[in-house]
Amino acid sequence: MKMGCSRLLFFMYVALIQLVIPTSAQYCYNTGNYTSNSTYKANLDSLLASIINDTKIDYGFFNFSTGESPDKVYAIALCRGDTSPSVCRSCINGTRNDLLRSCPNRKEAIIWGETCSLRYSFRSIFNIMEARPLIAAANTQNFSDVESFNDVLRPLLDSLRNRAASGNSTHKFALKSVAAPKFQTIYSLVECTPDLSELDCSSCLQQLQDYIPQCCDGKQGVKFVTPSCDLRYEIYPFYASSAEPPPSPPPSSPPPPPLVPSASPPPDLPTSTPGKESNSSRNVIIVVATTIASAVLIISISICIYLRARNPVDKVEIDTDDQISVVECLQFDFGKIRVATQDFSDANKLGEGGFGAVYKGRFPNGQEIAVKRLSKNSSQGEIEFKNEVMLVARLQHRHLVRLLGFCLEGDERLLVYEFLPNASLDRFIFDSIKRAQLNWETRYKIIGGIARGLLYLHEDSQIRIIHRDLKASNILLDAYMNPKISDFGMARLFQLDQTQENTNRIVGTYGYMPPEYLLHGQFSVKSDVFSFGVLVLEMVTGQKNNTFRGEDNGEGLLNYAWKKWKDGTTSNLIDPTLRTDSTTEIMKCIHIGLLCVQENMVKRPTMASVVLMLNSESMTLSIPSRPAFTLDCNTRSSVLHVEHNSGVMGSTQSRSSSVQASVNDVSITELDPR
Ligand code: ATP
Ligand code: MG
Repeated sequence: MKMGCSRLLFFMYVALIQLVIPTSAQYCYNTGNYTSNSTYKANLDSLLASIINDTKIDYGFFNFSTGESPDKVYAIALCRGDTSPSVCRSCINGTRNDLLRSCPNRKEAIIWGETCSLRYSFRSIFNIMEARPLIAAANTQNFSDVESFNDVLRPLLDSLRNRAASGNSTHKFALKSVAAPKFQTIYSLVECTPDLSELDCSSCLQQLQDYIPQCCDGKQGVKFVTPSCDLRYEIYPFYASSAEPPPSPPPSSPPPPPLVPSASPPPDLPTSTPGKESNSSRNVIIVVATTIASAVLIISISICIYLRARNPVDKVEIDTDDQISVVECLQFDFGKIRVATQDFSDANKLGEGGFGAVYKGRFPNGQEIAVKRLSKNSSQGEIEFKNEVMLVARLQHRHLVRLLGFCLEGDERLLVYEFLPNASLDRFIFDSIKRAQLNWETRYKIIGGIARGLLYLHEDSQIRIIHRDLKASNILLDAYMNPKISDFGMARLFQLDQTQENTNRIVGTYGYMPPEYLLHGQFSVKSDVFSFGVLVLEMVTGQKNNTFRGEDNGEGLLNYAWKKWKDGTTSNLIDPTLRTDSTTEIMKCIHIGLLCVQENMVKRPTMASVVLMLNSESMTLSIPSRPAFTLDCNTRSSVLHVEHNSGVMGSTQSRSSSVQASVNDVSITELDPR
């Protein structure tokens, strides 16, 4: 009877934890379905079945693919770093069945079990950091003193993040407990899929850490899972204490007390004699200790049950199927942003572009953000806006500026980005003094990074994105001068009137727009390639295409560069602040730039070829043909009206597109004409 009661109490305790932190969640991507008797399905089944028999799973990590494109299936299975091979196998076995049941016929899905996660996809998912979707759950209870709690939590998570990121190719995992205020202990665990680089793992976990103040500040427990990394902390041990690394002794700790009892007892205590008396006093101690322990246990459980009844489970849930609920968790409170930006003060204004002003902000936990306050005439409805933010937020890459979330309040629409301390590339290359800070090595690194970021947008991300406004002010620089492309997806967020390949509203910036876009409203990945080419030539020459005047007055930078290249006098193009010991690489970049700005878009390379060319030292590059025309500088302050046929679905209706020209290099939209 007594036994049954304690079992019941134990069960209640476990149930309570499970209610607060769900043990399993899944996410079915909306990226397509397979049919039941397709080759894809057969490949998927055989791949998922092979995992638990593969010896690689003994290391807790499995990444493998099977089949041939387009039916190729990729899978990643990861067990928590402290699980044994047998627990790992049984977790994967269970989650595999759950996943197939929960996401029937989906071409891409992921499930997170208690101690393992399992993911499959039709696209390559190896070595790619993805911190979205993010599923978050939080404990019901708050800490009374959030500040002191965060003072302990922050360094704990920092150290775990560093430890996990510096792991090896089979383990990127770290756990630890530390003492917290009010005699509590924080237990925490972080993990990345070990195929990630150290940098990607660290950045993934950092994103989760940054998310804590947004959703769960002061909560006593939090669990975040994403495809690439997980983070959890609690104030109770949720892993076996044996998994903890042994505590390292403090550098100059005093010698431990002797383990042998002292020769004589302290004078106030009665000495005990061996025999019956000693046994009975031991029994008394055992009975008293047991009674106290039981009382404490019962009181704690009662308090827990009482608190649970008072506070309904506060589950911050980013759900499985429903994309909108994922978006909710990217939503910021307008008041918080207002405080963070000091009420959008001028002092905090970083700049203003075609879509609105950008402000620097700082959250109470010290996190810095950049907030783009969109101009108030976006035609998009709330749901569409949220969906687009969701799509854009899922695009994650080392060379893309991270979109942290958004805010909707009345007609206010804000986009919240990570803050990049070195602002944008234009502030360096077009500044006669700051330009010298960008030596060739840095410029080459920036060119390579932009190329990889664009390649991701064009080919590697879940949705294909054409940037349409690539330019120096949309390349932001982090503390180490690593480039990050910003404002990708703006065309989607502003829902320009467009079909797949034609638009009757032109968005973009003069000097960077290819002729087919300017004249016929046609855009494609090759439009971005053109803009990339302009950017490369600007970086090599230190000249701005828009304001450049060559030898014949009015000749654009592109024509000038092409002529010099044809005459074999390309070295005249190079920015004089660059040392000439890297001439081969500089020449290669001019050559690539000229290939990208060719008039005929078919002749322009794809970003995949550009990345290859940049990485190869021996590749023979084709001869560039004449670049596209550039507008005469005098037309830059006038409005052009361009007639063109839309060609949409065989239609030949004529459309008129307004091109609002601008002299100050911001993107041109009809939504916010200037
Ligand atoms: P466009 O509207 O065509 O993109 P733009 O890039 O000049 O034009 P914004 O994108 O509004 O204008 O940005 C204005 C300025 O704010 C940028 O030039 C950049 O220096 C700064 N900025 C934008 N985003 C960030 C960020 N995440 N971190 C730091 N600075 C930023
Ligand atoms: Mg911009």
